[in-house]
Order: sequence, then C-alpha cells, then structure tokens
Amino acid sequence: MTEKDYSGIATSKIGKNVKIRNNFTQSSEIIKSKEKTREAKKIELPASLIENYKKAGEIAKQVKQYAKEIIKLNMPLHEIAEKIEAKILELGGEIAFPVNLSIDDVAAHYTPTLHDEKLATGLLKVDLGVHINGCICDIAFSLDLTQEKKHAKLIEASEKALEEALEILKKEKARAYINEIGKAIQKTIQGFGFSPVRNLSGHGLAEFEIHSGLTIPNYDNSNIKMIGGGAFAIEPFATSGAGVVYDGPSSNIYHLVKEGQVRDNFSRQVLEYIIEKKKTLPFSQRELEKKFGSKVLIAISNLKRAGIIEEFSQLIEKNHCPVSQAETSILIYNDNVDVLCD
Ligand code: MN
Ligand code: MN
Repeated sequence: MTEKDYSGIATSKIGKNVKIRNNFTQSSEIIKSKEKTREAKKIELPASLIENYKKAGEIAKQVKQYAKEIIKLNMPLHEIAEKIEAKILELGGEIAFPVNLSIDDVAAHYTPTLHDEKLATGLLKVDLGVHINGCICDIAFSLDLTQEKKHAKLIEASEKALEEALEILKKEKARAYINEIGKAIQKTIQGFGFSPVRNLSGHGLAEFEIHSGLTIPNYDNSNIKMIGGGAFAIEPFATSGAGVVYDGPSSNIYHLVKEGQVRDNFSRQVLEYIIEKKKTLPFSQRELEKKFGSKVLIAISNLKRAGIIEEFSQLIEKNHCPVSQAETSILIYNDNVDVLCD
C-alpha cells in the first residue's frame, strides 16, 4: 500500500487516530535537523527483528514470482487476490494488507470483493504485503496486459527509479538524505518523459504498522533529514498524466482507527476479530465476508458509522492517465542496507 499526502496536510491514517501535522511545523523541524556532515551512526536492531523482516522478504519474493506466473489477461481480480493471499499463508507468512490490484489510472488501493466482476486488463499494479510477527515487507510490481505492450516504457520508468533510489541507499545507508532519494526518483522518471506521482510516497514500516514515521517522497521535497535506521518501503509511481492522484470511489479496504463501542452483538464480534487478528493493519471486506458471511456488510457499515473503522479510497490519477508502480522494502541497521525483496 502507499501513503498519500493531502495537499499541505500529511496524514498517516493507518493505525492510530489520524495524526495531522502541518507544513509549517514540518519546515521548522527540517531547519533544526539540518546536518552538515554525514557521520555514521550505529543503528542496532534486535536479531529477532532482523530475522522476521528477512523471512517476510523471502516469502514476498516467492509470492511475487508466483503472482507473475499465474496472472493472465482477463483473469477475475478476486481469483488473483485469493490465490496470492493463500500463497502468503501457505508459505508461512501473514497477510499484512489485502492484495491491491489497481488498473490503469487507479494508482493504488483497490482490492476486489468476493464476487467482484472486474478482470485483469491494461496496466495492472499488484501491491502485496507479508508480515512475520508484525514485521512487514511491502512490495509492488506492474504488469502490462495489453496486446501491444503499450505500457512497457512507463513500467520501466518506475522500476528504474526504484533502482536508482536503492543505489543511493546502498551507498549512503542511514545517511541518505530524504530529498536525494526523491530527487533520484523524480529525475529518472522525468528522464523517460513521464511524471512521478507527487502526492504518493514511500514510508517507514513499524511492527503491525504499515505507514509509520518518515515519508519517502517521489520528488525532491527539500527534506534534508537523513533516513536513519529501520524498515522502509520505497515506491515510485510514474504516469503520463498530471502526476497527482485524488480520492476516488471506495476500495473495499478498511482499517481500525479507534477502539469504541457498538451496540449490537454481531458488530461487536466482528470488531473483536479485527482487533485480535488485524490490530491496526488494513483488512478487506472480502476477508470478513469469508469469515462471517454476507451479513458482515451490516456490521461493516455499523462500525463505519461509529467511526471505529474507516475505508480507504481508490487513488485515481487526476488526468485519468495510466500509472505504473514499483516497490520494495528495505531494512537499514548497523550500517547495512538489506533489500528485503528484489
Ligand atoms: Mn505497497
Ligand atoms: Mn507501501
């Protein structure tokens, strides 16, 4: 999944009550944190955590390979999603978020329902997440399902941008500046004659938290903070359009935003399942429907109305032009940079 900036207000909506920080405080923070030298800092991470991330990455790698093999033109999206999620579980991983299958101008955040009629066509982005004890590997790739392969360049642009960003990270490690990562992504995508999507970005990853801490921009946003240690998802989006997405129709993806009370027993039972199984990770209508049957739709709308869960919006390119995405997750520690999935 990806992180969206809401013009001037960056919200990290997953996992907590919406945190809002305005750009003014952000810029003063940037000035304060201005660092003139790149001194190596020792970043220690517990061995068990490193192992969990690596395991999540190994599984993600195999699932990516599997997904590339099975996805064919006109395959029902719900079949693709079900197969990918089953594969994650089969390999011993947990599903960090519902598989996002977003087509053409839908940049991100669509997952099919159980009886979805949408089929795989055009420029398909497959965005999937595996976690081991809450340690998440968030990855994505794009497939060109057109006969004439008309999206080949656009896909190459986001893939190359990801490579360039990783080059900087491998070289500078924890000392890489946030804006130089964004700048490399922007420059690469523009070099192909396309635009990066400016209001979608990479993000920090924390245990059971898909979007946490830092935002890793897809353009030079002048943030000269160093990336530091920890887990991060890097995810360039390239488009032939305006390079901006807006909130479109519902995605069938939800997340817990606060704990609260609901009156009816069944909704309470569904909420308990969400808190227990998902914690703050995103989940799909599909998953709940498989578990509780179609009556869960009433519970979902009750929980939504009570403000306990929120639904993500599909993120749509402003000019309705196709968008490609490439994503991987990395772990920075002890002056190492591990790319969790390539
Ligand atoms: Mn993702
Ligand atoms: Mn992501």
